[in-house]
Amino acid sequence: MSQTMKDKFVQCPSCRESVAWNSANPNRPFCSESCKNRDFVEWANERNSLPGNPEHDELFSSELGEQHY
Ligand SMILES: [Zn+2]
Repeated sequence: MSQTMKDKFVQCPSCRESVAWNSANPNRPFCSESCKNRDFVEWANERNSLPGNPEHDELFSSELGEQHY
């Protein structure tokens, strides 16, 4: 491993702010608790409003079935 001990930086998924990914930031990958909560609310709403997509599930499982090892 040649990585330094420097903090890894990620982009806050909510506001695109650069955020240090370390234990000092309990809200990572978000920059703050408000961003975290905002994104979670949006995510939850999105999930609840998504219609089921059985076609995709079927395709996915048939793809898995065709894999040979
Ligand atoms: Zn943010």
